[in-house]
Order: sequence, then structure tokens, then C-alpha cells
Amino acid sequence: MLDFYNIKDGFPESSIRFQNNIREVLDRNLASQINTLWNENRFANEIKDVLANIGAFGELKPINNNSPLNYLEYGLLMYELERIDSGIRSMVSVQNALTIYPINQYGSAYLKNIYLEQLQKGAVVGCFALTEEGGGSDPGGMKTTYTKKGDKYIISGQKSWVTNATFANLAIVWAKEAKTKSISGFVIPTDSSGLKICPIEDKMSLRLSPTAHIELDNVAVPLSHKLPGASGLSPALSCLAQARYGICWGVLGALESVYEEALSFSKSRFTFGTSLSSKQLIQNKLADMVSMHTKGLLLSYQLSLLLTKGMPSIAQISLAKRENARAALVSARSAREILAAHGITLSGNVIRHMLNLETVDTYEGTYDIHTLILGKTITGDPAF
Ligand SMILES: Cc1cc2nc3c(=O)[nH]c(=O)nc-3n(C[C@H](O)[C@H](O)[C@H](O)COP(=O)(O)OP(=O)(O)OC[C@H]3O[C@@H](n4cnc5c(N)ncnc54)[C@H](O)[C@@H]3O)c2cc1C
Repeated sequence: MLDFYNIKDGFPESSIRFQNNIREVLDRNLASQINTLWNENRFANEIKDVLANIGAFGELKPINNNSPLNYLEYGLLMYELERIDSGIRSMVSVQNALTIYPINQYGSAYLKNIYLEQLQKGAVVGCFALTEEGGGSDPGGMKTTYTKKGDKYIISGQKSWVTNATFANLAIVWAKEAKTKSISGFVIPTDSSGLKICPIEDKMSLRLSPTAHIELDNVAVPLSHKLPGASGLSPALSCLAQARYGICWGVLGALESVYEEALSFSKSRFTFGTSLSSKQLIQNKLADMVSMHTKGLLLSYQLSLLLTKGMPSIAQISLAKRENARAALVSARSAREILAAHGITLSGNVIRHMLNLETVDTYEGTYDIHTLILGKTITGDPAF
């Protein structure tokens, strides 16, 4: 791992071994086919198998208390996944932080019993449906409703931009009680009558990670499929906090990938008689990338320590998500500039990472929304 400040010196040996092993497996099994799959706009089942084999779904301590992995290792796993592709990290984030986590944290014994083990094996895939067409930044404004009718909840509405939805077996859907407007979460099998998955085919970002809108037309859900511990918007936001932690680490993997490619290109490309790497303007770009990566790693490592002690504040997680996602996006754009024409094709990884990172900078709270969260925390004045 790129580590300009020897931050890894603070990591336990076992965590370093874990990371090296994940990198080796992913490089051997996935790296060479990623550009093709991305170009074909498809998430191959083989990817899920590789992920299941490395325990990406099942062994995460922040998600599953029985796990041998600690918060640092979870972060390192995210780093390695996103070094390959942000879409793969997204798939795993949704499975872990946005499906297993809410069921584990807010679900009944019944729901845990039927779903957790299968989710952890990757035999069942989940998705998380919070955003609606009216605006993802303001999930409290959701229009999807539920009403209790006999032994069922009837859910109607529309959810947008749902990662994994095209191949998910279940959806965690957030809805408002029709009269009281109180928000609750539901675990809904995606083959339920009245639930329609509408794939988004023309994404130019995260092409490896299928996304869909979900229409819910009077979907009848058994009472037992409501998350009993999840009332109000805070539980949904707590899931996002888990996912954002993974993003803070993940994007640094993508940053390392674009930096390495730009550095290597700069050494082999000659203009005006000398290598690009010997030009001050190119060195400036590379120095910025290493600087941003180093600062990002310090933030992520410190967040892992805060998580180990207890949950960091939402604003602390916001700061790192805002900073690291933007740093990776800016670095990818800069790497693309160094590669110039070569940077726009899939002969390398830079343009793919760059386009992916446009989404990562947007989802799980845009840069500006995290600015507003920080602004409110600093001043006490909400400016949303
Ligand atoms: C590929 C992809 C996958 C996704 N996966 C999921 C998923 O699995 N589940 C899910 O629920 N959602 C998912 N999302 C949705 C994502 O979380 C939202 O796109 C994101 O929250 C932003 O919402 P929006 O796109 O509706 O933009 P809007 O909320 O409409 O915002 C538009 C612009 O206005 C700005 N803005 C908004 N409010 C303010 C304000 N008060 N002051 C100043 N500026 C403001 C925003 O920063 C943004 O620039 C996904 C999105 C993408 C692109």
C-alpha cells in the first residue's frame, strides 16, 4: 500500500498480512477482467464468488460482532476492493453496511435467523432503498408510505438509485406511516407482488455495480418484516455512517491505483527530450496526489481508532468522507491529465476510476451536504 508517512507502522502484523493477502487474491482473480466487465456494464457472478471466498460479506466486525476482523481490517478490505473498482466496493458496502448491519442492529430474532447467515455467505444479496426521485440529500422528505392492514403492512411509493437492486433478493425499504409520518424500515423480498425493479442502463459511472429504481405498488409485507428497532430517520442514517466509514478507506485504494498509473506513465513518456516525470508541473500533480493520499490515510486510520473506542460523531465521519472522496476524484482527474489521450481509454484504469469516483463523491451524501453537516456542527446553525 502506498504509505508515505509509515502509517502502517501502527498496524498489527496480522492486519498487514490480511491486506497483502486480499490484494494478492483480487489481483490474481479480478484485476485483468475489470475493464471488460465495466465496459459491458455488468456485475459478473464470478465477482460475487471471489468476494464470498475472501469473506468479504461475513467476517466484518463493525457489522457482525462475531467477526475476527476489526475496524482497521474492515477499512483495509474496503481499500483493496476499491483499488480494483469502486463498484465492487459499493456492492460489498451495500451488503455489509446497508443490509447486514440494519438487520443485525435493528432486526428481530426472526429476521436475523432467516437472513443473516445467508447474507454473510453471499447466498442472499441485499439492497438499501432510501433515496427517492424528489432528492437524495433530504431523505426525511420521502413520500413512500406504509399502512397496517390486518396482518400485513401495505407499502406504496418509488425508490431511486438503488445499488444491487437488479440482483438483490431483498430490499431494506424506508417508508413513512401514512398518517403519523413516522419513518420505519422494512425487509422486503424483491420478488414480492407489486414490487418492480427498473434497471438504470445508461450509467457512465460505477458500471460494474448495477443500479435500479424500485416501484412499490401496494406491496403487502408480513408484520414480521418490519425492523422493530428502527423508528425515525436516525437508524437509516446510522447505516449510512457505517457505509461512509468504508468509503473513507475505499477511495484511497482508487487514489493509489490512479497515482501508480500516472507515475509509471510519467517515467516512460518523453516530451521535449526528457521524461514527463522530470517536469516540475507533472511533479506538482504527483506530489498533490501523495499528499492527499497521506492525509486521507491519517483520517481513515484515526477514524478506525475512534470506532474502536465507540462510535465517532456523524460530523467526524462526514469530514473524512467529504475529504477523501473529493481527494480521490481530484487525483483521478489529475492522473487523467498526465496520461492525456492515453487516459481516456480503457487500456488503463484511470478513466474508469475517475468516472466511478464522480458517483462516490455524490452518493452517501454529496460533498456539499457534508459541508452543511460540518457547518451545523461548528456553528450550531443548520443551513440546509
Ligand atoms: C450510482 C449510484 C448509486 C446509488 N446507490 C444508492 C443506494 O443504494 N441507496 C440509496 O438510497 N441511494 C443511492 N444513491 C442515491 C444517492 O445517495 C443520491 O444521489 C445522493 O444522496 C444525492 O441525491 P440526489 O442525486 O437526489 O441529489 P439532490 O439531493 O437533488 O441534490 C442535487 C444538488 O443539490 C445540492 N444540494 C442539495 N441540498 C442542498 C442544500 N440544502 N444546500 C445546498 N446544496 C444542496 C447537492 O449537493 C447536489 O449538488 C445512489 C446514487 C448513485 C449515483
